[in-house]
Amino acid sequence: MSNASDVTHEEIVALRAQRQADGDSLQGEERERQRTLHWMRCCKCGTQMDEIVFRGVRVDKCLRCGGIYLDDGELEQLVGKPGWIEALRSFFGS
Ligand SMILES: [Zn+2]
Repeated sequence: MSNASDVTHEEIVALRAQRQADGDSLQGEERERQRTLHWMRCCKCGTQMDEIVFRGVRVDKCLRCGGIYLDDGELEQLVGKPGWIEALRSFFGS
């Protein structure tokens, strides 16, 4: 991780377009099958995730590997509140 370089905004824009196309290319039945298969499953270990309300924001957390999933906009809702980083650490730390 130490020699990894930050992704650029242009790379994100290009990746987003690619992923949108990937999703659009799936036919209805296959798309539904994928969604059912992966819904609320941890993207790292595949365990069912639990929804935890943290400071008024519903966060999906894997209690097996400790992974956290934030929906679009949820990170923005969490950061900036006083003491947010310490609160995250104590709440999500193992
Ligand atoms: Zn997990």
